[in-house]
Amino acid sequence: MKLTAENIILFIHPTEEKTKKPILDEISYKIAYAIETGKPNFVVGFLDKNKKASISKGMTLGHHTCKCGATSEGSDYKIAEGLYTNSLGAHYVAFHRNDVPKSDIEKISKLTYKKDYIPRQGIFDGVTD
Ligand SMILES: [Zn+2]
Repeated sequence: MKLTAENIILFIHPTEEKTKKPILDEISYKIAYAIETGKPNFVVGFLDKNKKASISKGMTLGHHTCKCGATSEGSDYKIAEGLYTNSLGAHYVAFHRNDVPKSDIEKISKLTYKKDYIPRQGIFDGVTD
């Protein structure tokens, strides 16, 4: 699977400070659920500043460190058919919503989650296990 601007979401570098409180709405729950139930995917990619997907094989090249210091895992997550994100996805949506592109919010809004889902502790801080 090739990572392109169309099939990855939340490969962003927030520019604004982390908000004091997370936004825990349906969008945050949907992406958290998708990551928790997604599969680690070891083709690491990110969007460069020209919005081109860059890809590197191997885990250690793929760490993202958020502006606030939160660090991602070295793998992406396959979260739906043909859709990938990184382990900081839920963190970005909850704490850096202003930096999340509208197109990503639209893709997240199409995801589903269980109504009785309780997010795992730390998922919004970028901790996935
Ligand atoms: Zn952050």
